[in-house]
Amino acid sequence: MERFVVSARKYRPQTFVTVVGQQHITTTLKNSIKNNHLAQAFLFCGPRGVGKTTCARILAKTINCFNRTADTEACDECDSCKSFNSGQSLNVFELDAASNNSVEDIRNLIDQVRFAPQLGSFKVYIIDEVHMLSASAFNAFLKTLEEPPKHAIFILATTEKHKIIPTILSRCQIFDFNRIRLDDISNHLAYIAKTEGITAEAEALRIIAQKADGGLRDACSMFDQMVSFGGTTLTYKTVIENLHVLDYDYYFKITDAINKLDSSNVLLTFNEIINNGFDGHHFIAGLGEHIRNILVCKDQATVQLLEVSEDVKKKYLQQAQECGMQFLLKALGIINRCDVSYKSAKNQRLQVEIALLQMSYLNAAPVEAEKKNDDSQNVVQQPVSTAKKEPLTAQKTNVLAEETPQYKKTDKPVTSFKDLNLTSGFRLGQAKQVVQQSAVTEEVPVKEIPAVQNEEVTLEKFRLAAAAYARDKNKMQITALLRAEMITRMDDEIAIIEIENLSQRESFEPFRQEFLDSIRKFCTNNTINFRFEEKKQDGTTKKAYSPIERFEAMIEKNPLLKDLKSRLDMELDY
Ligand SMILES: [Zn+2]
Repeated sequence: MERFVVSARKYRPQTFVTVVGQQHITTTLKNSIKNNHLAQAFLFCGPRGVGKTTCARILAKTINCFNRTADTEACDECDSCKSFNSGQSLNVFELDAASNNSVEDIRNLIDQVRFAPQLGSFKVYIIDEVHMLSASAFNAFLKTLEEPPKHAIFILATTEKHKIIPTILSRCQIFDFNRIRLDDISNHLAYIAKTEGITAEAEALRIIAQKADGGLRDACSMFDQMVSFGGTTLTYKTVIENLHVLDYDYYFKITDAINKLDSSNVLLTFNEIINNGFDGHHFIAGLGEHIRNILVCKDQATVQLLEVSEDVKKKYLQQAQECGMQFLLKALGIINRCDVSYKSAKNQRLQVEIALLQMSYLNAAPVEAEKKNDDSQNVVQQPVSTAKKEPLTAQKTNVLAEETPQYKKTDKPVTSFKDLNLTSGFRLGQAKQVVQQSAVTEEVPVKEIPAVQNEEVTLEKFRLAAAAYARDKNKMQITALLRAEMITRMDDEIAIIEIENLSQRESFEPFRQEFLDSIRKFCTNNTINFRFEEKKQDGTTKKAYSPIERFEAMIEKNPLLKDLKSRLDMELDY
């Protein structure tokens, strides 16, 4: 196939009316030309590839045209227009400040400004990426900008308006260029495709437009690339494969599974996405966008905010009917938290999976609360009962050995949670507990949390657990503190460790969390806790408070605090 002409250049607009998506600017410019109120200095601001330089060139051509149309467009026929169209006009001068930013470069330009044009009435100086000019170049330029000759017009273009010094800003008429709307870009691509005799699926063009993120030039060059891969037919499939875009069908599928409490399918679909080489963070951000799109479909007034093709819009409207408002809002909250914590997470894949499971349980929680006393409703409760059968026994061995849990890739087909083969620490049963607890506490009062998998912890068991930790730690001060006789009693689910003085508690502080984790694993009880009490001379004891203990004391007075803690997803600083 014949090499495709770079469409961004070939289809660069030659008149104001063909500029894509910047009507507010072209209209104003045309009006100023018509009324002879043209400023002498302009600042064109906006993202890359949205038409800043194109507009500057059209302006230069139009004001030099000898025979402007009634609609204030260049005629494209007079000598001046012809010289512009063939790129030979001496009335337009372009300087790319990104590569020519020295005082010398600016002086060369200033020298030329003095001379009046030979053909036409204006000389237009376009300085691209003007924020890149050095400070001294800026200063040299300032004087010319203050008192330009009548025939000179300056158009400064920048992607970074905030870097332009106020003295320049105050001397320019400023135009803010928009990111170009998806529809505008895909329509433009459709026009190019039609003119070039290329059959392109609307969805294919839309994906290109989406990926270009408001930049028409980028969209055009991606389009060119795709055409050179795919020839005269451009399909959605070719485009998502070549641009490495995640198929939106995945988002529909996974949202459907989440909504239907089908957590196995949720995890399997996510697994497929990861296996296709997509990044978890990319996926979760995309899912957020997807949920947002469903959300705007919930309201007739906001449906217009949906930037998708008609076919996909139908799918969104359909899914919007299936999802509850509460569910969508909470899901967005979960996605947002996952997005924020993703970067700092040790096991990033797990972060996404927890978020997905949490979402899956959003719909389960109220059902659980309603049907709590009705054992015949086993179908709905199934996810919970699965977790019940899977206590944390396996963790008694292998407690602190592995730091970063990872999935092992296996070739064998994955048919259940267990097949996903977590190699350590955070097993799926545990993930499910976390998910259940958080999902349930969001929906029902704290007291009604079913005590699922916690085993009873006797004083003896706690002492054994403490001894095991002390032995592993092999540190004198810890061994001394965790001797059996120091652990005097169980106060409900809190073990009391008696100490001689407060400094003992402080020296233990760095180990507190690790100790607690170890104890909880050893005892198969996720809520067991402990506190220190100071032994008084007279034999009585006094509570020695740490932050967690203070919080627990507060909860005793006001149980709602615990609810608040889980709702805000707070972590206590131990
Ligand atoms: Zn002309």
